[in-house]
Amino acid sequence: MSKSNDNNFTISVAAGKGGTGKTLVATSLALALDEQYPGRIQLIDCDVEEPNADILLHPQISSEEPVYILVPQVDLEECIYCGKCAEACQFSAIVVIRQAVITFPQLCAGCGACSYVCPTGAITEVQRQVGLLSKGSAEGTIEFIQGRLTVGDQRATPVTRAAKDCVDEKMIAILDAPPGTACPMQETIEDSDYCILVTEPTPFGLANLQDSVETCRRMDVPCGVIINRHGVGNSGVEQYCENENLPLLLRIPQQRRIAEAYSRGQTLAAADNQWMKPLQKVFDQITNLLTD
Ligand code: SF4
Ligand code: SF4
Repeated sequence: MSKSNDNNFTISVAAGKGGTGKTLVATSLALALDEQYPGRIQLIDCDVEEPNADILLHPQISSEEPVYILVPQVDLEECIYCGKCAEACQFSAIVVIRQAVITFPQLCAGCGACSYVCPTGAITEVQRQVGLLSKGSAEGTIEFIQGRLTVGDQRATPVTRAAKDCVDEKMIAILDAPPGTACPMQETIEDSDYCILVTEPTPFGLANLQDSVETCRRMDVPCGVIINRHGVGNSGVEQYCENENLPLLLRIPQQRRIAEAYSRGQTLAAADNQWMKPLQKVFDQITNLLTD
């Protein structure tokens, strides 16, 4: 998602698993950059199954809008029970059993393949709400956007996509990605200018990081690493970064006061102003890497 001028980059913040400090990094970075570039920062919470950037940024929400997808509705009068719709569906969201066509809207991704292949026009597409977009502002000038998947729905991707559609090319957008490397994470980081991978310096953290790096490389998204809870574990992550020529952008130490601030719902930058500069330097490093 290369934007026209300056450093209006889209930066995803991802992690191989939940609880690694990904949202802490994303929100802290937004806060630090807002000091440097007031009015030019977007924080978009794309972790739509469990969005929690609001807990750290305390936004004022000014509007909410539903996210819809189109799901099939079958007119049995027109149906010849050929089964083509079920064959076309990759998500088992429509099934044909003898003289019955059963749809599972919560599994439906709204791709439209079933209605496309239906030979009789028996399928029409109807809107179904799958999530909610909340928009507002945080800390005065950060534009805050949060996607939230409807409870019980399985398909996060349309909500993630709707949240991503809010990226403003004239701003620096920070996307808080879902944990792991499955489709919702890939949907989030696709087209990002850069992906920050947050990890812990443990063997488990290293294994997750390796998966995330592979995903970024396969998707051609440049990436760098922030180590959270630096001081626990071992040097395996640092070694890996060196061997793989991965930029190590920042080390956040394992400190009681950081953990306490986080549990009080504070970003790094809000808890201790001294973090502003190191976080701003992370962005400078990324800018240099992208513009060299
Ligand atoms: S493709 Fe159309 S006609 Fe065939 S089973 Fe599905 S709904 Fe019925
Ligand atoms: S719209 Fe796509 S995902 Fe939904 S039932 Fe049809 S083929 Fe399956």
